[in-house]
Amino acid sequence: MSDVTVTPAAPAPSSSRLQVRPELEGAQPIVASDGRPLLQFKSPRVSQPPVHLADLTLAERQDRLKELGHPGFRAKQLSTHYFSHYTTDPAVMSDLPKAGREELVRAMFPPLLTEVKRLTTDNGDTIKFLWRLFDGALVESVLMRYPGRVTLCVSSQAGCGMNCPFCATGQAGLTRNMSTAEIVDQVVAANRALAEDALGGLRTDGGHDADRVTNIVFMGMGEPLANYKRVMGALHRFIDDSPEGLGMSARNITVSTVGLVPAIDKLAAEAIPVTFALSLHAPDDELRDELIPVNTRWKVDEALDAAYNYYRTTGRRVSIEYALIKDMNDHAWRADLLAKKLNQRGRGWVHVNPIPLNPTPGSIWTASEKSVSTEFINRLRAAGIPTTLRDTRGKEIDGACGQLAAGE
Ligand code: SF4
Repeated sequence: MSDVTVTPAAPAPSSSRLQVRPELEGAQPIVASDGRPLLQFKSPRVSQPPVHLADLTLAERQDRLKELGHPGFRAKQLSTHYFSHYTTDPAVMSDLPKAGREELVRAMFPPLLTEVKRLTTDNGDTIKFLWRLFDGALVESVLMRYPGRVTLCVSSQAGCGMNCPFCATGQAGLTRNMSTAEIVDQVVAANRALAEDALGGLRTDGGHDADRVTNIVFMGMGEPLANYKRVMGALHRFIDDSPEGLGMSARNITVSTVGLVPAIDKLAAEAIPVTFALSLHAPDDELRDELIPVNTRWKVDEALDAAYNYYRTTGRRVSIEYALIKDMNDHAWRADLLAKKLNQRGRGWVHVNPIPLNPTPGSIWTASEKSVSTEFINRLRAAGIPTTLRDTRGKEIDGACGQLAAGE
């Protein structure tokens, strides 16, 4: 994350500022029968991949092994190979009897992700993976090294049903929900790539010392809370101790949503202290109805109430994501309105992350002027809202996560 310097006395908003409205450029919107943007909450009825070890709890793995005629204790051995050594190669599993080993491994680890493409930034700190799933659907994940941590941005659905006009994924609609294991396997594959030095090996300068994925953000393809059950399964695999799971810290996992209010309430009640992020992008319903179509279902205030309830229930400070789009949502009055709405609910419960877009000449989906971004941030800070301009690592390889793929 990079901080923006605070300069006091933000100028008054200019009343002559343009209001650019969200619209698709060169594509037809997907609309429902009532003419409004189509929202797909249910996955189309398509088959899921074969069951994989990472779909199951440890007890379920033991049951499955017994069904396959193997002793239950093999579950721990196989889990260790997968979650600690990131391998599904029978050749290295010398603790399993040779006879029947290949069949056992094939049954418990059906291949889920096939690497189609791997793009690496020039300095080697960021990799975007494009994966083909068992049915040909394509998803992506982005691996980013920062001082002292390694973050993976994961996909949770093939496509997305939320139809946000600034998002390439949303324009393609929802293909299907990803399985728990397909979500988890993105992290295991990234850990495997790290172990093979894909990010250039460990670096001790400046604290570059994480040797596996330490942070996960659900900001790739899909709306994670629209695939609730399978995402919950993946969260358990991420945080459960080895050998049941990866043993990661829940705090280092960010679940991000455009505002599916009932699912936010459900997540709060799970009492898993993951970091929660609301992709708000506008504080007023008039604009947000167009910018984030799900806002026609759950309004700004309902989404903010649910976010505040998340904080109250879990004690975890909530993040508000806000992509700054030139003349669309970056007006000073919107910064003031956002601050007012956040402060109305309390102090110290929320953090705002403005996200700079790429400058895209000729597109309405382009970056705010620097002075405008600075004013927006200063107004929030002046109102007592902690605000940090977010890093947009990966943009140079078109690696912006689904939620940030504005105008692509
Ligand atoms: S921005 Fe996120 S929620 Fe909206 S269509 Fe894209 S992936 Fe879906």
